[in-house]
Parts: sequence; C-alpha cells; structure tokens
Amino acid sequence: MAMAKVFFSDLKTGRCSSVVEARLLRFWEARNVKRGGELMWMDLLMVDVNSTVMQVTISAGRLPQFREILRAGTMFSVSGFDVSRCAQNFRLTDSSLMIRFNESTSFQELTEPDSPLPDEAFRFRNHSELIGLANTNTQLPDIIGEILSVRSTICDPPEEKNRVMVTLKLDSDETVTLSFFDAQAVAFHKQLETMRVDPKVMVITSINPKIVGGRLFLNATSGTHVYFDKKTRAGDALFYKLVARDTGLPSAAPLLRSYAKVETMTIADLSSFIVSAESQEIDFLCTGKVVRVDMEKGWCYVACSKCSKKLQRTESAFTCGVCNNPHAVGALRYRVEMAIADDTAEGTFVWFDGVLTKLHSIRASEAAQMLAEDGVNPEDTRLPPFIADMEGRTYTFQVRVTAFNFTEHHKTFTITRIAEDHGRLTEDGVGSDGDGDDDDDNPNIKTPPAADDQGGTSKARKKTDAETSNVVKKARAG
Ligand SMILES: [Zn+2]
Repeated sequence: MAMAKVFFSDLKTGRCSSVVEARLLRFWEARNVKRGGELMWMDLLMVDVNSTVMQVTISAGRLPQFREILRAGTMFSVSGFDVSRCAQNFRLTDSSLMIRFNESTSFQELTEPDSPLPDEAFRFRNHSELIGLANTNTQLPDIIGEILSVRSTICDPPEEKNRVMVTLKLDSDETVTLSFFDAQAVAFHKQLETMRVDPKVMVITSINPKIVGGRLFLNATSGTHVYFDKKTRAGDALFYKLVARDTGLPSAAPLLRSYAKVETMTIADLSSFIVSAESQEIDFLCTGKVVRVDMEKGWCYVACSKCSKKLQRTESAFTCGVCNNPHAVGALRYRVEMAIADDTAEGTFVWFDGVLTKLHSIRASEAAQMLAEDGVNPEDTRLPPFIADMEGRTYTFQVRVTAFNFTEHHKTFTITRIAEDHGRLTEDGVGSDGDGDDDDDNPNIKTPPAADDQGGTSKARKKTDAETSNVVKKARAG
C-alpha cells in the first residue's frame, strides 16, 4: 500500500501521513545559551522537487533516532509528521509552515527519487533588500559576495571572546560587513587558515541584518553556514565571473588578517568593530583630526593617588570608594574628551593622564597651577591653552577598545599612545605597557564614564576657598 506522495507546498497544518521526497540541505543544533548550552532541538532545511524549502525540527528527545543518518546533501523520503506554523521571527524559509517529527515519523534515505531533486536552494537578498530587512528580525536571508578582506581577533590559542569580520562585495558593488562570534568565529578562522589559497567567493546562509549608526551589518546566527568558491553552483558562477575579470596580478596579501597586532583602522571601522556587545581588549592605530574638544566634560579630575580612580569630595576630605579610604590623597589627572574625525567617520575619544602628560610635557597639576583662579577647583578651571590648541590638529594614536566601549549609552575610545610624528609610533610606543612611569596610564580607569556624566555636574563642584586650597595642596603632593 503506497502512501500518497505530496509536495511541501501541499502541506496543511496538522498531522500528515503522506510522503515527501526531499534533499537535506543543511542542519544545525539549537542550544539554549541560558541553560548551559543545553541541546533543545535540531533544525533542518530540506528542499523538494519544486525547490520549495521547508524547515524541519527534530526535538532533542527524538534526535538519537535520526542523528546518525543526517548528512547534508542526502535525499530522504519523509512521512508521518506534524505540520505547524513557523514562528513569525527569524524565518528561515519563505514558507509559513514547518515540519516537526513525531513518534511515528519515518525518515528513510533515498537513492532514487521519483524526480531529480535540486542540489541547493538559497534565499539570496541584495543590498537594498537587506536594508529593508534590517532590524526587523523577521527573516534570516542568505547572501553571496566577493570576499575583500577578513579581520580576526583570534589568537593562538583562542581566548574566550572572539570575532571575525568579513568585508564582502555584493552584486551591486556595495560592500557589507559580516561578523562571526566566538565558536563560529574560531571555526571560520581555522577553516580559512587551512585553505592553501585564499577563497574569492562566499555564500553565507541565515544571517541577521542590522543597521547600526546608519550602516548595514550582517551577523551570523546559529543557522549560518558558509560555502566558499565552487562549493555551490551559485558560488561557482560568481567565482568564474571574478576570475574572468582578474587582472592576473598576484594578490597583495593573505586574506586573513588578525587584529591581534596593532593595526591601522579607520574611525568608521573602529565604530563598526564595537557594534557587537561583547569583545575583548584590543589595540588599533588611528589617524584623525581633532574636530572639537568637549569642554563640558572638563579636562582633569582628582584621582586617588593609590588606585587612580576618581575621588568623591566630602566636606573636608576626599573619599576613595575603591580603596575604602575616607581620607584619600588626591592627585590631579588629565581626562579630556574630544571629537576626532577622519575621512570615514567621527568618534569620541578620551585622552587620559599619561598620554597627555607625555604629549605636552606638563603634568595636570602643573597646568592647574598655571591656571589657578581663586575659589575655583582646579578641575573647573578653563581648558589649558595647549589642550584647546589641539583642535584642528591631526594625530596618529593608538586606541584601546575594551568592554567599556561596548555599553549602549557610552561609545568612547581610549587613546593610550600617541605617535610623535604622525604616522609612526615611537619605539616604546607600541606593545607592552611595561615602561615604568606609564603604569599610572591606566586606560581602564574604572571611573565609569556614565557615572561621570551623571554625577560630576558643575553645580556639584562649587566649592569654598578652603577646600580649593586643600585640593591644590593635595594635587601638588601627587
Ligand atoms: Zn583609591
């Protein structure tokens, strides 16, 4: 008794006992990150003779029964399953339905299908379609493009948080940035490393488009698969198109570049780097012109001479919350925010004490004395002229990106070193932080910038003469 054969497009919600012949395109695990990565189910994408793609889900409990026979590219006959509606978000297919295996599902490998089944199926979207989908979380489309560059944070051995960014040129000549995170980033990095020749073409599936700061970014999802060059028909076609256009010149540099060394970055790239909520500490080299100095944020603060954190003023003394010392000794330190721009973008950069002291060969406490006014706390005096003069100048500097840069409301970059004549760092300028007098140059000053913004209003800074002289004395001591 042969069961009726149907197509994916015939399916209706409810239990189905008909047979569908289809090819398994790809599959991946859905894990619950909130519960220690517990396996929840397996997602499969299958395509039938009409090129209709259907999402198939096998729950973790039923998976052992099928796990062994799951192989991408294999054809199956499927019967006895439930059909239900897809979730509205993060859709993997054009169909609004999906298949769930149940206790009576038969899933048999098939060598001779009734009709030839397609080898592949993608939902490619172009640049403007991706922009339309961005931030809607409705669809996880596929893309194809030419690989222009790959940047990776992965070192050997890989650390905990990882990221790889691929710049791709789409058909429209628009470029997009695609990011992989953590385990997927490591896997991608390793895959590229083992390839003897840099690939030219990438097909990437189930990506989530986002617009951040007016730019389109594509993030990999757990369902993302990568196919290089001729691994797919679509890739093969683009590959030969590119080869035909090739100038025959040897490629300039290996594709895979690591962020691990101090590398030059545009400010736009720097901003795109922090799009992800998580990352690690990493240094880049930027060149930009100071557009303006943010006077509102002041130019210095009273820091604990032990731990460098910002001190809290009490009636007669300074308190360090970190050292738990109600009578901390204060020292004036620079902290200046500036808008710096290059051809690509503008960003907010913070200069800390060590780097400004080095640049101007004058300590914050000395500057404060030069500018001393009666009844004004040093941190409330006008901007030192040599800092105001930085406006309009171009600097090459090293930037440290830390978890700090990744908060929703505060996007600043910390300048940790300055190149003496622009374009080149001094010998001791790159690399280790180990040169003695610099260890007070802590870029991670744990005065949360947000707290600064809220707490340190100038109103709270009006002080008596007695307190002011107190400050200056302590500042001198530091
Ligand atoms: Zn302290």
